Amino acid sequence: MISYKEAKEILHNEFKNLTLKTEQVDLINSINRILAEDIISDINLPPFDNSAMDGFAIKFNPEITKWKILGEIPAGKFHEYKLNEYSAVSIMTGGKLPSECDTVIPVEDVDIENDHIKLKEGSRFVKGINIRKQGEDLVKNSIALQKNTLLKPHHIAVAAACGKSTLKVYRKLRIGVMATGDELVDIHETPTDDKIRCSNLYSLISAVKEINMHSVNFGITKDIKELIYDRMKWALESDLDILITTGGVSVGKFDYVKEVHESLGVNIKFWRVKIKPGKPVLFGIYQKGGKTILVFGLPGNPVSCLVNFYLFIRENIYKLFNLEISKKFTANLDEDLKKEDKKRHFMRGFYSLDNNGKYHVKKVGSQSSGNVSEMGKANCLMIIEEERTNPKKGEKVECMMM
Ligand code: AMP
Ligand code: MG
Repeated sequence: MISYKEAKEILHNEFKNLTLKTEQVDLINSINRILAEDIISDINLPPFDNSAMDGFAIKFNPEITKWKILGEIPAGKFHEYKLNEYSAVSIMTGGKLPSECDTVIPVEDVDIENDHIKLKEGSRFVKGINIRKQGEDLVKNSIALQKNTLLKPHHIAVAAACGKSTLKVYRKLRIGVMATGDELVDIHETPTDDKIRCSNLYSLISAVKEINMHSVNFGITKDIKELIYDRMKWALESDLDILITTGGVSVGKFDYVKEVHESLGVNIKFWRVKIKPGKPVLFGIYQKGGKTILVFGLPGNPVSCLVNFYLFIRENIYKLFNLEISKKFTANLDEDLKKEDKKRHFMRGFYSLDNNGKYHVKKVGSQSSGNVSEMGKANCLMIIEEERTNPKKGEKVECMMM
């Protein structure tokens, strides 16, 4: 059995061996994907000096407050006007500025009288106001978006302004998920006698989707060595980056997953970590033809399974792509907790903010790793370190968003 810290180090190193492929996708389909190149602007943004307001473009002179209107410039319909300090051009937001103008007075600040405007009583203007200079947002040939950006609509806006109709993004990691257990039935069935519904496939697939990776569902397999072998062999021969199995990885008589991993040539890097929940977790690597598949055997208990995914898989995928890892925060404990062993605990908690903006947290009902409904009430994991025992009400605990 190894420590949480050791497991983290092993995983950090092994995730780096994944081959990250890239693909070109239409800009409109690149939302939530991770950029695999820097985006360089092919033009200045904005491309020309223009007006930031609907107003009047003038040649600044602080003494002058009345101007003759020479004409107008709608956005996208430029016309060059020869101005002097006593003339103005009506200009719309985004309209290109006549070369001799340096200031725009908003339409709200003037009174219009026939072909003249007059500054309103109490209105002020200074040189250079309401002008957006060429390249002030971004200079041509400079980096508009950095590689590894997780693309959100505000990034798509930037790429669009830079004329990128397709983007090079990382291919989604392909993550296979497979459940084992004689007692499992699929969710459409009402379990009878000694059966339960398989919730792990659904929680894991949605956890994979949540981080916008690609899941491949290998279904449920009975606790029969040969069947697990065949299904896992099939999975390892499918084009996966990560394979996750659940169940059958502990020390029960019918827990065949570790043995099958070994017989398939998976190089086991660790089995069992000093944590709760999720202690029996297994990790290994499978290599064939220069390709590496990271293989995780997660315990069947629904809470252990999902917490393991968050701690060991999600965090490392975030790191792999240089994304921000799950938000952590320190909260005030609102009740005593029971924790007597030397494992690192990840207790399911419910946090809230008080009127002073301080985090408070308490545990959700039971901490049994089999209680799926209790997990459904949680919004965070409370991290109780190895050496810490029985944290008391009022003490601080580190929490991680779920
Ligand atoms: P195991 O890890 O196979 O020893 O299973 C531990 C516990 O998790 C048992 O109570 C199983 O019935 C339960 N379990 C195993 N697989 C699943 C699953 N896919 N969905 C929900 N519970 C499961
Ligand atoms: Mg089992």
